Amino acid sequence: MVKPPRSAYLHIPFCHKRCFYCDFSIIPLGDSARAPGSPGITSINAYLDLLHKEILLAPKGPPLSTIYFGGGTPSLLNQNELRDLLENLQRKFGFQEGAEITMEVDPATFSESDLKEFLKIGINRLSLGGQSFDDNTLVSIGRKHNSSELIEACNWVNQLLKKGLLRSWSLDLIQNLPGLDLCKWLKELDQAVQSQAPHLSIYDLTIESNTVFGRRNQKGELNIPNESLALEIDLETNQFLKRRGFSRYEISSYSLPGHTSRHNRMYWSGSGWWGFGMGATSAPWGERFSRPRTIAAYKKWVEEQEIKKTEPTLFINRSSSMPLDELLMVGLRRREGVHVEEIAINSGWSKEKCNKDLKLLDKYWSVFLKKGHLIKNNGRYFLSNPKGMQISNQILIQMFSWWDSIN
Ligand code: SF4
Repeated sequence: MVKPPRSAYLHIPFCHKRCFYCDFSIIPLGDSARAPGSPGITSINAYLDLLHKEILLAPKGPPLSTIYFGGGTPSLLNQNELRDLLENLQRKFGFQEGAEITMEVDPATFSESDLKEFLKIGINRLSLGGQSFDDNTLVSIGRKHNSSELIEACNWVNQLLKKGLLRSWSLDLIQNLPGLDLCKWLKELDQAVQSQAPHLSIYDLTIESNTVFGRRNQKGELNIPNESLALEIDLETNQFLKRRGFSRYEISSYSLPGHTSRHNRMYWSGSGWWGFGMGATSAPWGERFSRPRTIAAYKKWVEEQEIKKTEPTLFINRSSSMPLDELLMVGLRRREGVHVEEIAINSGWSKEKCNKDLKLLDKYWSVFLKKGHLIKNNGRYFLSNPKGMQISNQILIQMFSWWDSIN
């Protein structure tokens, strides 16, 4: 059975402009996003009305232990707008004592005093979208901020951490960006460590066809690191950060002791969560549901929900489990991996089915098990670090083939 949802994700879709690699569900507002009387303000107000409505429509649930404002660029909202959303959530669900409340913030969208205001309303963890410390790289990927704005933002956030006003923070970087080589990347990592971020999220660049990068890639204009360089970069990242006290607790996440993200761990544990907002995915009772990705379609959907509550995955507690393949997919991302049989039994499998079908899974995974990229220990499977984590996609493809073969 899926655990009752104790986490909520709120999607704030506004950005100044779309970065060249991004295919998220966002609304670009231009440079004067928050100028008084601007169309940006009207868009923000109209969207927030819908978001509040959606929260009001949700059924009741247990108090929340993690809340996450993601985007988009949540730091384009002001503290009153964020406070109203938190209050709405609190009235609906209540918050557990010590709840983790995270907000994504982008350099060049907030000032030091904005940050202090965010913390006053209860935000206690920040995720800073840095992506790179190199000015040329930042321009080439379409980011709005430059390197000195990023360094300044890191300093502000760090001061708050040191003063005990903030519980933790994370810095996002993207590895394998166009034009990157190992030397440049190690410089990026060095600056990330110098920023004193206690948590680093290091993502691989994914090329989506409907983006500027997708189009450039198709024309052969994108000089991204080849596979062997990408593997070398990942290996060096792991070693570099390990030497500096970081532990890789998930494929893309490195943290100093005591700074893992509770909200992210929730996703990988297979718990249910609420999601609110345009394009947001949720799975409160085990079944995933993704909301419409454009504002017009999202508006229509919220209005329909208001009348008919037509989306059963949100309103009916069927207490189903997430599908086993999904549980394995998210669980394997974690350092501790998954106990496959335990998950299967919890999903309602009989002992006989486990004996038969899980033996077959071992066959699908045999090459990886033999090479030590996937490790099995007392029924628990986990990816070796770094090799298993680097080839996690291949290991998951085999798992999905196994899943198809038994269904
Ligand atoms: S700031 Fe983030 S969400 Fe907005 S366009 Fe850039 S990558 Fe996408």
